[in-house]
Amino acid sequence: MIRRIDAMHQRFGKLDGKKCRDCSNFIKGRYHDKTLQKCEVYGMTHSEASDWRQRWTACGQFSKEYNGRCIMETLSRSKEPEPPNCGATMKEAQE
Ligand code: SF4
Repeated sequence: MIRRIDAMHQRFGKLDGKKCRDCSNFIKGRYHDKTLQKCEVYGMTHSEASDWRQRWTACGQFSKEYNGRCIMETLSRSKEPEPPNCGATMKEAQE
C-alpha cells in the first residue's frame, strides 16, 4: 500500500522546505483521551490509518483550500477499516 504522504506528493507534488505542521490543512486536536493529527485533504477518520506527521515534507496543496474528494477515498487499494470522513470527525475533535 502506498504511504499516505507519498500519495499526496504524487497527486499534488512535493514542496521542499515546508512541513505539514505549518499547513492550514494540518489539523491537530483532541478526541476523547487521544491527540489526533490529520491532513484534512487526505481525509480523516478515527483510525490510525489516517494519522499524519508534523515533520513530513509538505505537498503542493500546502495551505490551499481543497473542495475535492478526500484523497483517501481515491486510493483504490485502501484498507481503511472505517469510511473516510472529510471534515466532520476533526470538527468533533477540536471541540
Ligand atoms: S495538504 Fe498540507 S498537511 Fe496535507 S499533505 Fe499537503 S502540506 Fe501536508
